[in-house]
Amino acid sequence: MDRDGGTKEKTYSTEFFAMNTVMYIEAVGPESEEAVLAGCDKIYALDAMLSRTDPKSEISQVNAGAGVSEVTVSEETFRLLENAVLLCEDTGGTFDISIAPIMDLWGFSGSEYRVPAAEEIAATIGFVDYSGLILDSSNFGVSFSGDGMSVDLGAIAKGYASDCVLEIMKGFDIESALINLGGNVCVYGKKSNGEGFRVAIADPTHPTTYAGILEVSDLSIITSGGYERYFEKDGKKYIHIMDPYTGMPADSDLLSVSIVGPNGMRCDALSTALFVMGKEAAIEYWRAHRDFGCILVISETEVLASRDLEGVFTVTDGKTLDFFD
Ligand code: ADP
Ligand code: MG
Repeated sequence: MDRDGGTKEKTYSTEFFAMNTVMYIEAVGPESEEAVLAGCDKIYALDAMLSRTDPKSEISQVNAGAGVSEVTVSEETFRLLENAVLLCEDTGGTFDISIAPIMDLWGFSGSEYRVPAAEEIAATIGFVDYSGLILDSSNFGVSFSGDGMSVDLGAIAKGYASDCVLEIMKGFDIESALINLGGNVCVYGKKSNGEGFRVAIADPTHPTTYAGILEVSDLSIITSGGYERYFEKDGKKYIHIMDPYTGMPADSDLLSVSIVGPNGMRCDALSTALFVMGKEAAIEYWRAHRDFGCILVISETEVLASRDLEGVFTVTDGKTLDFFD
């Protein structure tokens, strides 16, 4: 895949399937191939570590045992859980990694979707509370405050993975990189023509086209929306992003949220959290932090973005863009 015939600006790219999604990694530079392949290896390792469907993964072992006795994990998994809990706290629990029992109830952990009865949700929602996750840093031990709890890192795994991949790829002689993990994008450096990358923000009402374009570099751009994964029953749509307070799919007035920032894991957590919060609370959250960019798709024609993205974000014809401060 050496597109430039062995010149110094060697481009190498690969597409593969991991973490339940299609992934694409590309790099330009003398060591682009080595960098891309090392990045892929890291994704496979993380998939094996964090998967909820692989019973051998550390997360599966935590979920199987931590309600009964402490489970010791690797330092990497431990730090990831620690940072995830900080993000749960910071988002007021709209992002909550202990959502797993609710995901299972709705069948989102596999593909046998179902609409649970209200009593089932009531009986399960009590297990969702990240503060019941007990982390002992002296021995990287994880336990739950009670049996019935489990964790699901689906809302941060890809963002975290892109941070890890970029870190590894920067250890090679490369000028630029593009990491696209199922629509969660991370861009590094500038293209060979000196321009920043142009990253498309999907149009939630027509997901094969895009709502807008961001021109950025050295940032992650991570999107959450109901259009990504859902099922329909009796004419009603049930999405895979849950409200941890109700145990129901998030009843959001947003079609999608994209977060732009230097830390992919945080962007990923925030894209999920701000989607759950809805328009007003999401804007309030941005106002209280202002250290990330935020794009809210409101309807087929209306898009809102935080003021810091003025000049780098544009929408496609037929859509209106307003900035908030
Ligand atoms: P995607 O994985 O499609 O990019 P998200 O980053 O929003 O989208 O993650 C959604 C996944 O995160 C769900 O499939 C589920 O595993 C988990 N999840 C759903 N709702 C929440 C929530 N409120 N907090 C934490 N994790 C969640
Ligand atoms: Mg997310």
